[in-house]
Amino acid sequence: MAQTIFERLIDGEIPTEIVYQDDLVFAFRDINPKAPIHILIVPKKPIPRIAESTLDDQFLLGHLLLKAAHVAKVIGLEGTGYRLVINNGHDGGETVPHLHCHILGGRLMDWPPG
Ligand code: AMP
Repeated sequence: MAQTIFERLIDGEIPTEIVYQDDLVFAFRDINPKAPIHILIVPKKPIPRIAESTLDDQFLLGHLLLKAAHVAKVIGLEGTGYRLVINNGHDGGETVPHLHCHILGGRLMDWPPG
């Protein structure tokens, strides 16, 4: 299968501002931010979307969320709050088929989301 844009960022083929990475996850600035702070955190394993994750990914998915909270704290969002978003499939607004969690902050988020 062809590599996604996120795999190419993880591999260093395309430059990006890395916010955090470890053996399992990779966090970087969204190229088209929807909030003053907009970071994406992705598993290095190329799971296309949350619906295609399996029980084998249980630890990885927990790690992804814990590290999303860690990144939000390090970036200074803990006090004001932030939103984590995972889009799944067409109606969910997914455009890149590599599971990713949006970390959005720096402004008051609307509810319900558009
Ligand atoms: P989604 O719509 O949930 O699939 O989110 C995909 C996100 O990836 C969008 O917010 C895009 O702005 C972002 N994106 C696409 N290409 C890049 C890139 N090269 N570097 C950083 N973010 C990107």
